[in-house]
Amino acid sequence: MNRHTERTISVSYDEHLLKRAARRYWLRSMAIPLFLLAITLLFAAVVSRSELPTIVTPVAWTVSGTIMIGLIYSYRQGMSVATRFAASMDDTTVTLRFSEHGMAVASEMGCGESPWRAYQCIWRYDDMWMIVSWQRYVIVPTDQQDDELRDIIVRGMANRHRREPVCRKCGYDLRGQIAPRCPECGEPFDIDLLEAERKV
Ligand SMILES: [Zn+2]
Repeated sequence: MNRHTERTISVSYDEHLLKRAARRYWLRSMAIPLFLLAITLLFAAVVSRSELPTIVTPVAWTVSGTIMIGLIYSYRQGMSVATRFAASMDDTTVTLRFSEHGMAVASEMGCGESPWRAYQCIWRYDDMWMIVSWQRYVIVPTDQQDDELRDIIVRGMANRHRREPVCRKCGYDLRGQIAPRCPECGEPFDIDLLEAERKV
């Protein structure tokens, strides 16, 4: 088996795409506050009609109002980050490189690489995948995907906490190898170095 383990794609991170992703991110990350808002609104509505001491009603409305303001604020914040990000780039093309080890993102704003273990999960939508970590995500439009690319992403995410050494080139599991070459593809390796990298 000889699989490609590295792929590069170019995506236009235009405002439309960024806002769609930001809206989804907001909705999912705000699930608990939205739930709390529903509960407090319901509670406020119920106490307004009951015989409870008068102080409870304004407190309940104030709490739900505060949650609502917080939610609106965070939504607007997310949208304006998306708008500003798109507006700040002359060229919205972002180059994404996927490999066994992680994802590298490069645009005119700069570039950075993170290992798969820096991300938590993949959100799959019809039009895009969002590879999500705390407070950030990478958007991979589905029209830019094929089986090979999805395989690299899914495998990278599934193995992200694995500690076994794997071949840099083909991803072959190198546990128990004595000869310093990958038996699958022949790539030379230094087992101590691989082990050390995995533990970083
Ligand atoms: Zn190999």
